[in-house]
Amino acid sequence: MMNSSRAWVQQAVRKIEADFNRSADTHLIPLPLPAYPDVHLYLKDESSHPTGSLKHRLARSLFLYALCNGWLNRGSTVIEASSGSTAVSEAYFARLIGLPFVAVIPRSTSLEKIAAIEFYGGHCHLVNSGREIYGESERLARELGGHYMDQFTYAERATDWRSNNNIAESIFSQMRQEPHPVPAWVVCSCGTGGTTATIGRYIRYQGFDSRVCVADPENSVFFDAYVNNDNTLELETGSLIEGIGRPRVERSFIPSIIDRMVKVPDVISLAALRYLEQSLGRRCGGSTGTNFVAALHLAREMHVAGQAGSIVTVLCDSGERYLPTYYDDAWLAARNIDVQPAAAAIAACATRGDAVPWTLAQHPAPA
Ligand SMILES: *Cc1c(COP(=O)(O)O)cnc(C)c1O
Repeated sequence: MMNSSRAWVQQAVRKIEADFNRSADTHLIPLPLPAYPDVHLYLKDESSHPTGSLKHRLARSLFLYALCNGWLNRGSTVIEASSGSTAVSEAYFARLIGLPFVAVIPRSTSLEKIAAIEFYGGHCHLVNSGREIYGESERLARELGGHYMDQFTYAERATDWRSNNNIAESIFSQMRQEPHPVPAWVVCSCGTGGTTATIGRYIRYQGFDSRVCVADPENSVFFDAYVNNDNTLELETGSLIEGIGRPRVERSFIPSIIDRMVKVPDVISLAALRYLEQSLGRRCGGSTGTNFVAALHLAREMHVAGQAGSIVTVLCDSGERYLPTYYDDAWLAARNIDVQPAAAAIAACATRGDAVPWTLAQHPAPA
């Protein structure tokens, strides 16, 4: 005989699958770099998911994983440690299946994200720093008898990396009719590391020659952990680029999948948003700027080496969430960030082929 909790899990899974069935895939947008006509750049636009970021895919996977593991039941409170975007998406799925949701987020999280979490019926539990979200989530889960979803541990394993229209399968099938259907590089940045894990595994599984480049911001341990093969590193300060860069080496970060890492200064990432706004006609979030800087760097490297091909990177979320921060001159000035010179250099690099006046730390050094 089937108990009522199994029946509840079945209908919850069905609701998530039906929601997926109603959804469309996200677009792959070409972004020409006039100075490098033989290198074709594409952005996978994850901002077009119902909850506005690539975390929509992750939240769906995490809920299905938890449900099918028997970790969630009727009335379970779902708790998540997040810098914001995952909590927005998880609040959406919690509401879809009728579960209460608590987001444990740093006080610095943008008001837009807090409003979005609350819009989907989630409760925001603010902590002082990004380092406190993990322990506080564990404590709340114990206190409330709830389930701590723990994206930073489970992101890499909750997604079906072989298929099931994951982000990698979607990118490679959308590339099929392009002049260079197998990208030379796929450029990601890491929050959990889950997206990079899915893409890197899929590439090996399918036998593609594409390489994975990860762009890391300042105030993140990932780059140094990769260079020194050290997963014990920790930092005090949080990343200015929301969604990416972590103060500890998360378990979903899998260095062996990464072919190269590039460290992008925050001012350059934020300056790239200005170039993207002009060339794409869209405002993007900070991590998309970080991704774009690494992609531009690789495009120029390919061009200089006489190599034709394609590069795919991720448009992680929209800039509308960051109008009072990255797009606000007073906010930038208060942090002594002057994006104008770097924005001009990025435009000159992309449109005229000029070298940029900075070097990015990278590992391993290009052959
Ligand atoms: C989470 C996130 C990323 C990185 O994705 P992961 O799969 O978690 O590594 C990039 N940009 C934004 C805005 C994010 O929220």
